[in-house]
Amino acid sequence: MNATNGLHHITAIAGPAQENLDFYAGILGMRLVKKSVNQDDPGTYHLFYADAEGHPGTDITFFPWAELAPSRAGHGLSSEVALAVPPGSVDFWRERLTRSGTKILAPEERFGERVLPLADPHGLRLALVESESSLGRRFAAWERSPVPVEHQIRGLESARMLERDLEETIAFLIGALGFKKIGEEHGWHRYSVGEGGSGEYVELRAASDSPRGAWGTGSVHHLAWRVNDDAHELETRERVLRAGAHPTPVIDRFWFKSVYFREPGGVLFELATDGPGFHVDEKMESLGESLVLPPWLEPNRAAIEAHLPKLAAPTHFND
Ligand code: ZN
Repeated sequence: MNATNGLHHITAIAGPAQENLDFYAGILGMRLVKKSVNQDDPGTYHLFYADAEGHPGTDITFFPWAELAPSRAGHGLSSEVALAVPPGSVDFWRERLTRSGTKILAPEERFGERVLPLADPHGLRLALVESESSLGRRFAAWERSPVPVEHQIRGLESARMLERDLEETIAFLIGALGFKKIGEEHGWHRYSVGEGGSGEYVELRAASDSPRGAWGTGSVHHLAWRVNDDAHELETRERVLRAGAHPTPVIDRFWFKSVYFREPGGVLFELATDGPGFHVDEKMESLGESLVLPPWLEPNRAAIEAHLPKLAAPTHFND
């Protein structure tokens, strides 16, 4: 089987856009590589944070829906996004996040690696993982980041999901997407996919006695998995269909092409092609600086801009 290649991006729901930008760019030091709108709800921003060149697998994106209620934790949702940091940097991050007033939890060890769990300003659970393998990945440092290069976030590491029925989801991950079992620890079942690039892991835990999770501020919206190109996407879509899920047709998201479906436990998944990439409509040096609209929304630019909240350059947190 031509397996998927790990996480392409993760999209989550935020509160006010400015607070989201100040946290991900100003405190975590990621680069805002695209400022656009939700293509299904153009009155809402879609903000993309990644490494300096927006490589697939380094990207966390947000719909800031300030008026939404907080999410309800439970099964059928992804419960945490893990970001890779270089080995030895958790102490740097613990100090930086503490000084910036970010809510952090005690460091943990997970599958042999040091991990710092935290929550973003709108309640999204994150974890910074000292990832040995992240040093060998495609990564472009962001020279205008407030975070020194040696501690910068090096892309996605993994995502956690809570499931009512583990077996159905596991069979789907293996059969349709090409995952392999890695191990089990404290009730978390770890699977991997791809060839050691960014976001190769997913961790699942049974949560059959919890309620069904519900989207809201601070929740993950969907997990997107990398496919090489159109042919790989169609072939994977076919396997998803045969496995009993209901994939959408291919949707052109302009920077990549997407297919959406729910895995058997209810978590929304996407397949996304590696190309063409974020530099298709902006120069690499000025990515994220102006509002980019897909061509079909361009005629409505004035109305869209008037409706969106004003967004100032992020406030950089420095010592
Ligand atoms: Zn997506």
